[in-house]
Amino acid sequence: MAKQSIKDIDVKGKRVLIRVDFNVPRNKATGEITNDTRIQAALPTLNYLLEQDAKVIIMTHLGRPKAGEFEDEFRLDAVAKRLEELLGRPVKKANEAVGPEVEAMVAALQPGEVLMLENVRFYAGETKNNEEFSAQLAKLGDVYVNDAFGTAHRAHCSTEGVGHLLPAVAGFLMEKEIEALGGALNHAEHPFVAIIGGAKVADKIGIIQHLLEKVDTLIIGGGMANTFLQAQGYALGKSLVEEEKIELAKEVMAKATAGGKKLLLPVDVIVADGIDLPETAASVGIDAIAADKMALDIGPETIKLYQAAVADAKTVIWNGPMGVFEVDAFAEGTNQVAQAVAASDANSVVGGGDSVAAIEKAGLSEKISHISTGGGASLEFLEGKVLPGIAVLLEK
Ligand code: ADP
Ligand code: MG
Repeated sequence: MAKQSIKDIDVKGKRVLIRVDFNVPRNKATGEITNDTRIQAALPTLNYLLEQDAKVIIMTHLGRPKAGEFEDEFRLDAVAKRLEELLGRPVKKANEAVGPEVEAMVAALQPGEVLMLENVRFYAGETKNNEEFSAQLAKLGDVYVNDAFGTAHRAHCSTEGVGHLLPAVAGFLMEKEIEALGGALNHAEHPFVAIIGGAKVADKIGIIQHLLEKVDTLIIGGGMANTFLQAQGYALGKSLVEEEKIELAKEVMAKATAGGKKLLLPVDVIVADGIDLPETAASVGIDAIAADKMALDIGPETIKLYQAAVADAKTVIWNGPMGVFEVDAFAEGTNQVAQAVAASDANSVVGGGDSVAAIEKAGLSEKISHISTGGGASLEFLEGKVLPGIAVLLEK
């Protein structure tokens, strides 16, 4: 990795100000944490820092509080408590993120102790990357560690601003993400296959265009495949089609042909009268979609086609489900593609909120080389964008 990590600097006895992504899902009624994967993902970094006798000061956001208001519902006490359980040592919790009281708590912190700051999004300056708020945060540390890959695409005070004011390095989770995504993208073994799905071309055109230059085969599924099929002249009935993206789909197909790339589109689909009418589901060829039907998943012939492409791959990048996988009747395409990726020997990288959820639901996480913890961040990384939270880190 071109960026320095916590292994490259001396953290012994230092005040280490670390940004993590502890934006965990919670039960709306009780506020109880329903999944602590994000907290667990930061444990290797936190444990290392504590073994090194650093004074660990943690920053994160949680939810979407109104900026400038300290809403109890978004306080971090439950998160600090869960971290305490997982670390097996006390975690102090501040009721603010900056200011004299927090500074006093930091001054009292001993090597090997942990302090969690209050939700940084309680401060209006945070998401504006306000210099004053960055300076107040930077006062609390000697070095800055970013281990929040999930928010690395945001230039906020805690994810980027502070990094200009303190020596800034990556934590282990950040390092792993950069190596896995960057490795698959820039040092891929061929055949290199990308599978792009999801609802809309509009959301995925950046990743399609960037990956098309790198891959041998681009597989397109999900709702956005409809727009490509329409561009080829097929009738899509009541399916989701982005009329204003048809020209763009034509350009992508022309570019693939010109570059000698294989672009795979569905040859059959699962149609139904509506998403909420799974009992009407049937598989039809793409030339037989009735005017009153919606295409909601890829069909069995397409599954075979896509599985065969994945079977030969040495590198696979997957983002976006093949159909409306939230409904069982339209989940088969996504599940079968997930099985194929899991079964292949390829270096496999999966990113994106819904794609990762589908892999987890299918119980296949263990068989994927890397599952990205960042939804929006991994998408932007795969689009070839520079993520501000990474750019700010010191070069090796
Ligand atoms: P990710 O979060 O993995 O990046 P997206 O958010 O882009 O994925 O897309 C996921 C959404 O796309 C899901 O909610 C799914 O229901 C929807 N979707 C997939 N296929 C279709 C389709 N054929 N018609 C309508 N929606 C679809
Ligand atoms: Mg999504």
